[in-house]
Amino acid sequence: MALTGLDIFKQLPKTNCKDCGMSTCLAFAMALAKGSTELDLCPHVSESAKKFLDIASAPPIRSVIVGVGPNQLTLGGETVLFRHDKTFINQTAIVIKISDTLAPDELDEKIRNINGLSMKRMGQRIGVNAIAITNCSQKPETFKAVVDIVAARAKNLNLILLVENAIALEAVLPGIAAQKPLVGSATANNWQAMVALAKRYAVPLIIKGNGLNDTAALVEKVASEYKELVIDTGMRNTAKVLVALTNIRRLALKKKFRPFGFPTIAFTTAEDPNDEIIQAGVFVAKYASIVILKADEKPYVLPLLTFRMNLYTDPQKPIAVEANLYEIGAVTPESPVYVCTNFSLTYYAVEGEVLNSKIPGYIIAVDTEGTSVLTAWASGRFDAQTITDFVQKSGIAEKVSHRTLVIPGYVAVISGKLQEKSGWNVIVGPQEAVGIPAFAKAYYTKDA
Ligand code: SF4
Repeated sequence: MALTGLDIFKQLPKTNCKDCGMSTCLAFAMALAKGSTELDLCPHVSESAKKFLDIASAPPIRSVIVGVGPNQLTLGGETVLFRHDKTFINQTAIVIKISDTLAPDELDEKIRNINGLSMKRMGQRIGVNAIAITNCSQKPETFKAVVDIVAARAKNLNLILLVENAIALEAVLPGIAAQKPLVGSATANNWQAMVALAKRYAVPLIIKGNGLNDTAALVEKVASEYKELVIDTGMRNTAKVLVALTNIRRLALKKKFRPFGFPTIAFTTAEDPNDEIIQAGVFVAKYASIVILKADEKPYVLPLLTFRMNLYTDPQKPIAVEANLYEIGAVTPESPVYVCTNFSLTYYAVEGEVLNSKIPGYIIAVDTEGTSVLTAWASGRFDAQTITDFVQKSGIAEKVSHRTLVIPGYVAVISGKLQEKSGWNVIVGPQEAVGIPAFAKAYYTKDA
């Protein structure tokens, strides 16, 4: 159970010295209970009280690191049940599973496919995060050989070693521990050996229970010795996993139930890849820190990556590109000039369609604080004066020989005023970016 402010207050020196920045020890205790300050800010708390109070100052869900380098994963660390309460912090890791029984050419092809599972979306590169290797062969030497191949050929991906045989895990860890793979699972039968290995090699460990109660009991036992843990409830039925993950998140955040204060892992089971991606999407939405799946083809995996990206954007921050003048393709002084807002979705939709039109063009992304065309127009951030100021500042007049701007069809109403203020001819373009190729062909090809 979480400590109350009064429980914490009893452990403090009660001198009201204000060194923590609070006016009284009681105020500090209340803030600590709410999680809005840190125990370290009181320099006078005794060691024994510190130990006792660690439980109150610890985050409700621990962050666990997998991997090293720029693609390292941080799992867990979440503080809210619903994204709109604040934001989700560490996005669900999407991981493709392979077996150590694959023939060499199948293994090659799998690794190639998985390495290719990434794309650029809204200015960011998004992709799968790790490869999970399962010890289906049950042979330590086979497992080690496959892990070594994957580690050498999938350098940008993290590793998850799914092996319940401590001997097989021990065969692999000396050569791979520096890459900080996630390993497991530790179960009721093998946890002492697995925890000893995880501690010795400083790698995070999956704890696999059998249902919620059993998992909580096992995690409690293990966490007294090692805390770099990821929870697997052992459940595989989609509905049951959904309920279990929801309960784990709720109990961790609302009740500060410590055995559930760790990241979670979920496994897909559906054979059909379409069903599997839907199952994976359910786990991404609620509330897996890692989803392990088999599908490794772009048409299945890329939509899942997009879904994850949408879910994990911060609702407190509009996603915006830098307000600027952009050159799309090999522009010339005759190239068209499109005006849009600096809302990422708008900008990248326009950029993509200008490229599709095969007629190079300029895009002036006006600073609308990352809001879309209609929202910006309605709030006065995309009116004739703002656009005129931005066009003048952008330097476009020195780059083109014409004086024509193309504005989004949704703001046709400002065309007259914009023409008047800017002195540029204004053409009303299509309402949706998808109309740009046909529009560009009609206006900007010589034979049109
Ligand atoms: Fe109390 Fe510690 Fe804050 Fe001083 S620094 S007021 S002792 S909580």
